[in-house]
Amino acid sequence: MKMILLGAPGAGKGTQAEILSKRLGLVIIGTGNIIREAIASGSELGRKFQSYTDRGALVPDDLVVEMVADRLAKPDCSGRYILDGFPRTVVQAEKFEEIGGRVDAVINLVISDEEIMERMTGRRVCEKCGTPYHIHNNPPAEAGICDKCGGALVTRKDDAPETVAKRLKVYHEQTEPLVDFYRTHGVLTSLDAAQGMDRVTEEILAAVGEK
Ligand SMILES: [Zn+2]
Repeated sequence: MKMILLGAPGAGKGTQAEILSKRLGLVIIGTGNIIREAIASGSELGRKFQSYTDRGALVPDDLVVEMVADRLAKPDCSGRYILDGFPRTVVQAEKFEEIGGRVDAVINLVISDEEIMERMTGRRVCEKCGTPYHIHNNPPAEAGICDKCGGALVTRKDDAPETVAKRLKVYHEQTEPLVDFYRTHGVLTSLDAAQGMDRVTEEILAAVGEK
């Protein structure tokens, strides 16, 4: 099983990837991890990548795709993986295909911008011990105060409304066109990501024929 998870930031891709990885024995391949591993290992690709980031330059799609392909060729992947956060653009998806990258299923987690805003901007974290909360879904006993240590609850910069709005804009412009790209390839399944987490997992398993 080679799977891609698509969806806006906050749609629950990371959570589903964790669950599916355990249920189906799939390796999660996230671009962020690959890049950190490659840089830490001092490999040629890692050094090349760093030469761009050191200059603050945009890393070319070719290099990102090459790094993913390099990671997928390692024995632990052996054709069973979930791509989380890759491809990010249609250009990356095309280059991935050019070098022989194939997937069996693309799961598109559909959710409205309003729901994303509520999910993400409601997140709080204790500034002392790091315990996460949500003002609606997982509120502390006393507003603004950590149940565990009494520390103050704060909003991370990533969850601030203006940051979330910016990331949604980038998603709609750059990543959402992948939905049409994979639909024409006949491997796309779109699911309602606003329903419960367990329900989403069950629908994904059914869509990929593992249930
Ligand atoms: Zn705390």
